[in-house]
Amino acid sequence: MSNVILQINNLQKNYKEIKAVKGISIEVQKGQIYGILGPNGSGKTTTLAIILGILKASEGSFSWFGKGDADENRLRIGALLETPNFYPYLNAIDNLKIVARIKGVENEKEAILSALEQVDLISRAKSKFRTYSLGMKQRLAIAGALLSNPEVLVLDEPTNGLDPLGIADIRNLIKRIANEGRTVIIASHILDEMEKICTDVSIMRHGVILRQGPLKSIIDFNEHIIIRSKDLETIKSVLQPHILKVINENLEDLEFTSSMSSKEINEFLAQKGIYCDELYVRKQRLEQAFLEIIEA
Ligand code: ATP
Repeated sequence: MSNVILQINNLQKNYKEIKAVKGISIEVQKGQIYGILGPNGSGKTTTLAIILGILKASEGSFSWFGKGDADENRLRIGALLETPNFYPYLNAIDNLKIVARIKGVENEKEAILSALEQVDLISRAKSKFRTYSLGMKQRLAIAGALLSNPEVLVLDEPTNGLDPLGIADIRNLIKRIANEGRTVIIASHILDEMEKICTDVSIMRHGVILRQGPLKSIIDFNEHIIIRSKDLETIKSVLQPHILKVINENLEDLEFTSSMSSKEINEFLAQKGIYCDELYVRKQRLEQAFLEIIEA
């Protein structure tokens, strides 16, 4: 059986003269937490709206589970494109009953309790929606998306507007959902947050994908080594063949990427009788990787 959950081929979307999505291709495999990442206006929401059947593509195609659109796979896909309007005076259970009926979910009661359990809202299941914090409202929305016990969850900016605790709650929730064997597709502009949860990413800007692949291939590739020394000139001259790119330098500090690991550099310099005042590795953050990708 194929493991491909979603296949997007050369998707394009024009809003009159605005080219919002300019021919993107993405493959999402079962079990991935797939991040569609990029700054505001890069075309993420448009892409999600198309694959969820809310908007029509101008060109290109996509398929879910190797066969058909979102409508044909309605119960297999849970989606949260914008925070739904729950009724403020109803509690979580009654709000979810409405969602369950709209979706045609079977075993309504069981499905609701299970969804509330998954988002950690069981203890507040009978509280009115208007008494919920923003983080709880967002978790209830995710519960709504989980009602049909979908294989895939699609989320657009799930941490928008939340405080650090709320963000951590959503992060843990998404990880838990993925650990249960579901595939998660998330659009977000918060790169450093997505770095903590995504297994694979497509980095978008101005409607095109700049880089895509497993997160590790994107960040590890740019591991930075930082050397501090009063004799940087000597160090630079002996290391020259092993420096791939100088990221930053000043009188006493050199930050660079290298074909050698930090340990190998340490050994290499020590063999030549050269000792640094400091040698350490700064693991590059996705945010930084993104800036370098767009400057390249
Ligand atoms: P954000 O994080 O701000 O939502 P995004 O990456 O999701 O950004 P989109 O919302 O898909 O990006 O927008 C992509 C481009 O398409 C932007 O230039 C936006 O202004 C434009 N756009 C989006 N919706 C429409 C619309 N209904 N009519 C015209 N232009 C639109």
